[in-house]
Amino acid sequence: MMKCPVCNGKTVGRVGQGQFYCWNCFVEYQLCGDVTKIFSVAEDGSLIDYEPLAIS
Ligand SMILES: [Zn+2]
Repeated sequence: MMKCPVCNGKTVGRVGQGQFYCWNCFVEYQLCGDVTKIFSVAEDGSLIDYEPLAIS
């Protein structure tokens, strides 16, 4: 079971090969080997680099 790397929650859905989406904090993340890349989803659906400082 995948856990969200941001909130550590389990409200995670798979959206593609190695791609997951957290319904709690609205981020998408991708597993790239040992690295997890985290993106925010913009209003137009595009992915932007997740900025940890934006989350208090
Ligand atoms: Zn989350």
